[in-house]
Amino acid sequence: MALDAPTMLTLTIALAAAAALYLAIEWRGVREASLLFWSLGFATISLGSTLALLRGSGLLLIGIWFANGLLIVAHWLFLVGVAQFTATRLSRAWYLAPAAWLALLLLPGEQQWPKVMLLVNSLLVALPSIRAGALLRPHGGSLGAGAAQLRYVLLGHGLFYLAKAIPALVPGTLIDLAAFRGEIIQVSLVEGAMAIMLIALSMTGTVRYRREKRIERLAARDPLTTLYNRRALETRAPHLLREASPARPGALLLIDIDNFKLVNDLHGHAAGDRLLVTLSEMIRAVLPDGALAARLGGDEFVILLRDASGERIAALGDRLRRGFHDAAAKAFATPEAVTLSIGASLYDRPPASLVALIEQGDLALYESKRGGRNSIRLVDGTLAGKASMGGHTGIGIGATRSQGM
Ligand code: GH3
Ligand code: MG
Repeated sequence: MALDAPTMLTLTIALAAAAALYLAIEWRGVREASLLFWSLGFATISLGSTLALLRGSGLLLIGIWFANGLLIVAHWLFLVGVAQFTATRLSRAWYLAPAAWLALLLLPGEQQWPKVMLLVNSLLVALPSIRAGALLRPHGGSLGAGAAQLRYVLLGHGLFYLAKAIPALVPGTLIDLAAFRGEIIQVSLVEGAMAIMLIALSMTGTVRYRREKRIERLAARDPLTTLYNRRALETRAPHLLREASPARPGALLLIDIDNFKLVNDLHGHAAGDRLLVTLSEMIRAVLPDGALAARLGGDEFVILLRDASGERIAALGDRLRRGFHDAAAKAFATPEAVTLSIGASLYDRPPASLVALIEQGDLALYESKRGGRNSIRLVDGTLAGKASMGGHTGIGIGATRSQGM
């Protein structure tokens, strides 16, 4: 059953209105400005299609020129929305493009009018759609799968309108804008209804996907230091732990601030917070490529290293201890030094679990605290480490402690 133009237009009005409403409701939840531009774009299409129905009543200026003008404005709004979404600045020429439509009113001669109008209309819809699709190109993977979907839908829609411009250039093609006759117009009406659904759905998907990613990113971070939190460490650690081998041992460093409560008690909780941030920045600064760092909670932090050795652990731990001791002493006067105790564990086979590894680090940390704090204790669980303990089958415990601190 072939659908006549008024039926198709009525369907388009309903679909575009539903899309506008859908995106506006989505905006209420997400507050992403691009959704408002896109919603307004669909509302404009709905209005434009309503005006297009008036062609049947002989209102040609409103039914053709105004209606198609609104279609152009709608695609321009889509482009502005995409520019918002991708935080891109559009060149001023894009803001002038819809004004080109005004020039058509000055066109002399009845004969060529429908063809010129179809040509200009197709180009003014195609170009913003293709530009919007191009803006959604993935740079650094930051836009994600949702944006890729919208990108292809917009590019497909833009290319369709570009192709639609070609028959307008071919002599003898029937284009009757007033009566909606001619194959190009019929096909356009069907494509329009399809495009509304696909574009509206992928627009929502785009924003939702980005929002989900943002929530995921936030959920993985400790809000004070923005280091990974314990949960994020638990999901990211296993693949690092599995990499451990005698050729490339792994290591865990469990770090706890000594006498941290003194800073809180004497200088206030905010001062304590600042010190936690200082330590997190130091950890970030010394973190080798491929290593993981997290705040486990309170004043306890963890570093997971790959390709580690006793020397590398000692060097990294000493750098942190010295840096932190200096920074804390400079910032806060305390009756007892605010320093770092570190419990480290070196392993050359994947540990049973992260929890088991942390427990081992905890033992070493406890030794460090018991030994007077401001030191690093290493549990060397590698085969070589055990052998150097004179055939001792238990875990080797060594200590490094800088002089004069
Ligand atoms: P120790 O030398 O034995 O490690 O003792 P400590 O004074 O460092 O205290 P401990 O490690 O036992 O406890 C950590 C304290 O850190 C407890 C709590 O008051 C404080 N704390 C935990 N989370 C925060 C935080 O987010 N901000 C601040 N300012 N303090 C915190
Ligand atoms: Mg502490």
